[in-house]
Amino acid sequence: MSDCLFCKIADGKIPAKIIAQNDHALAFRDLNPQAPTHVLIIPRKHIATLNDLTDGDAELVGRLHLLARQVAADEQLNDGWRTVFNVGAHAGQTVFHIHLHLLGGRTLGWPPG
Ligand code: 5GP
Ligand code: ZN
Repeated sequence: MSDCLFCKIADGKIPAKIIAQNDHALAFRDLNPQAPTHVLIIPRKHIATLNDLTDGDAELVGRLHLLARQVAADEQLNDGWRTVFNVGAHAGQTVFHIHLHLLGGRTLGWPPG
């Protein structure tokens, strides 16, 4: 989608600190990190929110989590890590291209705010 920030990052039109990628997804560091490791994992395909998923996206969503596991291992988050999808206004979603937050490197409180 031409006016989507994360599509532009996926297309290389806007720079980002990309740390892993494959044919389906890429992982890059969040601009405003909330933990020592804060990485966003996005599909190359534009999907606005989890509400817009179709059955055909099931494998893709699994692949996002597999890439998260790879990044967590690369970042040596051996004491634990968390993934989060924010969906919609109450959850604080600000970018409408789905992104899996990967957070780690410190103790993470529960429940999240
Ligand atoms: P949301 O609030 O939608 O779940 O998460 C959006 C995330 O994208 C935020 O954590 C924010 O810091 C991050 N972000 C926003 N703009 C950019 C950008 O241009 N580059 C990068 N790397 N992260 C961004
Ligand atoms: Zn997009």
